[in-house]
Amino acid sequence: MTPAAECTKTRFPTIARIVATIGPSSDSPEMVRRLITLGVRVFRFNFSHGTFDEHAARLKVVREVADDMDRPIAVMADLPGPKIRCGKVPGDGFDLAVGQEVVFTNEIDIAKLVEENGKPVAYFPTTYPKLTEEVDVGQRVLLNDGAVRMIVTAKESGEVRCTVTVGGLISSGKGINLPETTLTAPAVGERDWEICQFAVANHFDFFAISFVRKAEEIYDLRKRLEGICSIDKDSAEQKGSRIPIVAKIEKPQAVAAIDEIAEAADVIMVARGDLGVEMDIAQTPVSQKAIIEACKKAGTAVIVATQMLETMITSSMPTRAEASDVANAVFDGADAVMLSGETAIGDHPDLVVDTMTRIIRAAEDRMASLPRRSTPPKIFADKNQRTASIAHGAWHIAQEFGAELVVCWSQRGTSARFLSQNNFHIPIVAYSSDHRFTRRMALLGGINPFHREPPGGFSAFVKMVEKDLIDSGWVMSGSRIVILGGEPFGTSGFTSSVVAHIIR
Ligand code: PGA
Ligand code: MN
Repeated sequence: MTPAAECTKTRFPTIARIVATIGPSSDSPEMVRRLITLGVRVFRFNFSHGTFDEHAARLKVVREVADDMDRPIAVMADLPGPKIRCGKVPGDGFDLAVGQEVVFTNEIDIAKLVEENGKPVAYFPTTYPKLTEEVDVGQRVLLNDGAVRMIVTAKESGEVRCTVTVGGLISSGKGINLPETTLTAPAVGERDWEICQFAVANHFDFFAISFVRKAEEIYDLRKRLEGICSIDKDSAEQKGSRIPIVAKIEKPQAVAAIDEIAEAADVIMVARGDLGVEMDIAQTPVSQKAIIEACKKAGTAVIVATQMLETMITSSMPTRAEASDVANAVFDGADAVMLSGETAIGDHPDLVVDTMTRIIRAAEDRMASLPRRSTPPKIFADKNQRTASIAHGAWHIAQEFGAELVVCWSQRGTSARFLSQNNFHIPIVAYSSDHRFTRRMALLGGINPFHREPPGGFSAFVKMVEKDLIDSGWVMSGSRIVILGGEPFGTSGFTSSVVAHIIR
């Protein structure tokens, strides 16, 4: 290690971001503070579990801690979507054997074992009444994340009969995946819509929607959300503003339609949990790469999620494969990597986040040592848009000037998004006077948002930047930076200048 006296600069935060699912293991103010310090930028609230009161209490903790730390931290409301589950099962559940018959029905309210032709047949209720209509003979029914599998052998009114192909225990509420079935369940059901209303009222920064199948589902949700945004209490401000939507890619149909979905959504999540059940597991690494590539092309931020450091739920070390998985998501170009059970219910959320940050750091150090090209997304380049061209130009200036950092005023996050998508391997500092946008920017790879009142002009902005960067310990006298902005500051759409600046 360098002796402290020589260490005049603080290392920049990593480029890849960490999204952590908040839960019983991580909802104390002390733990939230530790997780933010160790690298968490976005907390995911999983609405598949917990009551509105529980989520509201957790939200209050995150907001209070983030305010106290003066850090823009985003919160994401993750909607369960059309996830089908088994209904109630008595006791510890039923242990299903290979070859056993199972019947799904709408008629009963608790699972039961019935003797038919001298053999036990298990009858299960489900949370989706149309399941018995929409499933067809020959299709697979996967339970408990694919651990238990069966195939549909017969269909009568109100009943679907299956034969178990892979056995195991099924208890109450276990998930059901139907990879071959076209379900008519809406992407945003009644319960999801209630969650949306709760999340808008509580100023969540992102909505994640599960089991997306096509781009229209995103456009539909956005339209519905605009309806409630404009009756929100600060309607003047909310008008025209769109809450960013995260499309969770966890169905084969969505992978097939990824180009349109990546253009429709603000953020894409590679939701490998359900995707790994719905698709051949051998295909999921390939799908991950294809999804990330589609996002790069569309200029859409992308999160890689699920089982990233799964064994650390209980273990103090990840497996070698898990460490490689996190690093590979960084090499693939993910904006963010996500933790689920590891931080929600795990034994040591802080150790997990620290481990993840160290793996990201090592991967990025290697990437920084390799030659890089700026490859702005085609859709930006095609539009001849002023901000997009300046962002791309800034990449070349930063490269040739040897800049350590890029800074922009990004009132509504547009410049920050363009910069983030230009494949910089130096950090980007983005300013806004609007808390909603500094929080949203926290998810974008490489972006370090700062909330400040708009400076009066460019030279005042340069002064502000110098002070903030020196106070952060990120630069020192002689450091080279590139600054983007345009007057009037505080109004979006005016980025017009790039300055190559040497810190005094
Ligand atoms: P979930 O989504 O954790 O809400 O199921 C992520 C995934 O399926 O990977
Ligand atoms: Mn899922």
